[in-house]
Amino acid sequence: MNKYPINYYKDKYCSDCGRRVSDAATRCHSCAMKNNFKLGLINIKGKRNHFYKDGIKTKQHFCIVCNAPISYYAVKYGKHKCRRHS
Ligand SMILES: [Zn+2]
Ligand SMILES: [Zn+2]
Repeated sequence: MNKYPINYYKDKYCSDCGRRVSDAATRCHSCAMKNNFKLGLINIKGKRNHFYKDGIKTKQHFCIVCNAPISYYAVKYGKHKCRRHS
């Protein structure tokens, strides 16, 4: 009377979405990823923007007109303004 396949995981569920997860995990893969983003372990911007590797250039700058986030280069070569206002 074993209604589960042999390799089925134990009754372990993702703490976020309730999906069944492997024995050692507390979250399913996608929720673990989301959680890592939340904790700042993975930085999407950091991955996309190679300037983030440089500590000085990682400082966040903002447009002096509209306060939108701007790049290091907008500060260095622009007038500290976003694309719309430079
Ligand atoms: Zn999940
Ligand atoms: Zn602006």
